[in-house]
Parts: sequence; structure tokens; C-alpha cells
Amino acid sequence: MKIGLFFGSFNPIHIGHLIIANHMATQTDLQKVWLVVSPHNPLKPKKTLARDHDRLHLVRLGIGDNPRLEASNIEFGLPKPSYTVDTLAVLKEKYPQHEFALIMGGDSVASLHLWKNYEQILSDYDIYVYKRPSYDLGALATHPRLRICEAPSLDISATYIRTCLQEGKSVRYLVPDAVLEYLENGSLYKG
Ligand code: ATP
Repeated sequence: MKIGLFFGSFNPIHIGHLIIANHMATQTDLQKVWLVVSPHNPLKPKKTLARDHDRLHLVRLGIGDNPRLEASNIEFGLPKPSYTVDTLAVLKEKYPQHEFALIMGGDSVASLHLWKNYEQILSDYDIYVYKRPSYDLGALATHPRLRICEAPSLDISATYIRTCLQEGKSVRYLVPDAVLEYLENGSLYKG
């Protein structure tokens, strides 16, 4: 099976993420998309990052019963900080029956040349790219491994959602209903 990997902190997951994931899983040759939740990087400040398992739980709530999407916690057990190239090697070994590809926004492609072993990533994996406003893809724009996809893009971010929650404002429609219910009834991002 060809599976697209969509990495993120998902702090929290929002409909911008889900629209991209579902687009890639239904309108390309990818059969499934795994949303890979990045663990807390001990070198980065933790203040606004919810615990790994809360973010994973929210991703699962956001996916609901969509059979094309799946949450992955593969990076929770890997050395931190986790580098994509290392995670890919682990996935390849653990799931030899699958073919993996990466999903990323144009903003990430523009800085891909700074990633650990990016040349190896580009030689071994297809990268499904969705355009993000005001980012040009940079030097790698015409790389044969890139598949540029016209996915609908929404100008919202997890930062905006956290700010709303912090200020007691509604995030209805910005996150799926199940995520909304969890956030409204709990204390995440409010303190
Ligand atoms: P934060 O505001 O906390 O930085 P974020 O909303 O950008 O978070 P991430 O978890 O960092 O969310 O996102 C995971 C991936 O999804 C990243 O590659 C990011 O560029 C992308 N992404 C984030 N928001 C959107 C959006 N509205 N539309 C499409 N892609 C998005």
C-alpha cells in the first residue's frame, strides 16, 4: 500500500490539517495518510505544547471514522529530537510491505535543504507538496520526486486556535466537533 506521511505537532489538530490529509488520501495515488505526531523535542520550550498523548488523542478524535486516515505515534519511542530521515528508516523496517511517501507544504519544501540527510530523503521517497500562500518552493521546485498537488488551503494555524482557547473564544468549525467537545470540556490550552 502507498502511504503518505504527514508530520506535525498537531497542537492541536485543526481542519487545515485534515483537509490536506483527506485530499492527499482521496485525490492522489496515495491509499492512506498517516498523521505522525511529533513528540516534544527536549531542546525546545515546552510551555505551549500539550502532552504527547493528549495531542495523539486529539488527532484520533479529529480523524473519527475516516478509513483513509490514521494517527501514528511511531516517533514517541524514538530518540529525540526525531529526524524525519531516521523515522523513515524505522518505518521501512517495521512495515516492509508498504511504500511510504512524504506530504509537506511548500513552506517546508523551501527549507528542505536544511534537513538532516535531505538528499537521501529525496532520492528514496516521493514528496507530495501542497502549495501554501506566499511561499515559493525554492531551489528544489523542479526536483523529479516532488508531486505538486492543488489542495484547498485554509489560513488557520494551531497557534491561532490556542490563542482563541486561551482567551475564552470559540474555535467551533476550526476543529472537528469531537475535538471541539474535548477542548471545551477539558483544560488544555486554557491555563
Ligand atoms: P503551530 O501554529 O503550532 O506552528 P500548525 O497549525 O502550523 O501549528 P503543525 O502541527 O506544525 O501545525 O502542522 C503540521 C503540518 O501541517 C506542517 O507541515 C504545517 O506546515 C502544516 N499546516 C499547518 N497549518 C496548515 C493549514 N492551515 N493548511 C495546510 N497545512 C497546514
